Amino acid sequence: MNILVINAGSSSLKYQLLNPETGVLLAKGLCERIGIDGKFTYKPQAAGKAALDAVDVAMPTHSEAIQAVLDALVDGTNGVIGSMKEIDAVGHRVVHGGESFNKSVLITDEVLKAIEDCIPLAPLHNPANLTGIRACQKVMPGVPMVAVFDTAFHQTMPPKAYMYALPYAYYEQDKVRRYGFHGTSHKYVAGRAAAMLGKKPEEVKLISCHLGNGSSIAAVDGGKSVDTSMGFTPLAGLPMGTRSGDLDAGILQYVMNKHGLDIDEMLNVLNKKSGVEGLSCVSSDFRDLESAAAKGDKKAELAQEKFAYEVKKYVGAYAAAMGGVDAVIFTAGVGENDKAIRAMVCRGLEYMGVKLDEAANDVRGKETVISAADSKVKVLLIPTNEELMIAMDTASIVSGK
Ligand code: AMP
Repeated sequence: MNILVINAGSSSLKYQLLNPETGVLLAKGLCERIGIDGKFTYKPQAAGKAALDAVDVAMPTHSEAIQAVLDALVDGTNGVIGSMKEIDAVGHRVVHGGESFNKSVLITDEVLKAIEDCIPLAPLHNPANLTGIRACQKVMPGVPMVAVFDTAFHQTMPPKAYMYALPYAYYEQDKVRRYGFHGTSHKYVAGRAAAMLGKKPEEVKLISCHLGNGSSIAAVDGGKSVDTSMGFTPLAGLPMGTRSGDLDAGILQYVMNKHGLDIDEMLNVLNKKSGVEGLSCVSSDFRDLESAAAKGDKKAELAQEKFAYEVKKYVGAYAAAMGGVDAVIFTAGVGENDKAIRAMVCRGLEYMGVKLDEAANDVRGKETVISAADSKVKVLLIPTNEELMIAMDTASIVSGK
């Protein structure tokens, strides 16, 4: 079975063709500058097939972009499949499913309407995701399509975790609550973690640390998300590359008055000029922080410390929330690659049974155990694979399993 996974943005579209049963990736790539001049990148994974790197392809709309993807996949010389018939289904990443979706679903007219209804909750992302779905339906009529939501995995949170202590009417009338994001990633690594521990998902308590440019942590008890650090929007929780994470809301009024900012300008600062970049005055990239800190840059060192400290606090908080933890998972760009951050997070957690093996931690991007053999709580490095999770969900829905 081959599944085409689509992640559509407003002017870009990422794609992967993969087999969810074997996990084999056949091809991947990117359409950029849709609606502008159109750049197409294609990376077939089979030997002897030529890649395309940002070549000019006219893409006035997402439909031409999807057509370019299909043309490349079935191309007689460099394609990876014989015809479009070899694509069994399409899995679409959709950012926000609100309270309407607690799992992935086959796309119908009602589903499209419900995704539309979630636009106020994700005004930048859901419209682009919908455009991608509609373009695909136009170019691939009759091929089953599945929507996989970033928020769905967290719909199992109990009210005490997802409610804000605000007037109740904001929840009832305006749907203001914690939704959480990165659900596809947390679900994937939690599934892998259970397998690595030789247990069923129902048997384990996990803390999944998705640490990338955007970062979030999830408490996963018995295979279900019971709390997560992102909130109503992805601005909440940990400090990130350029996002502030949680802060005292009173700061907004103070800074806005002091600097004459309106709310859009303030939110732009919180989303794009804060986080480790804002704090370090160096970069949002943890590699740059590391090299600056190594040269004695105190603010870069502070940004690393602040980030690791906040991650550590969530680990403690979520262990308390679940009444224990069997494993802590590190994933995404920073979690998979930055051994120094992983060590800083784990240092000081020995009291709760976390014992990192420094030698085992000297690793990047590989699924492996990085805790000591006698560590009560296992520490796992698990490269995330959201596309594979989307393909797996899509396959199970279209095959009715
Ligand atoms: P993601 O959002 O998951 O793609 O993660 C991207 C981030 O991962 C980058 O902005 C970097 O901060 C971080 N990253 C990637 N490679 C490394 C590395 N080798 N060491 C430290 N951080 C890394």
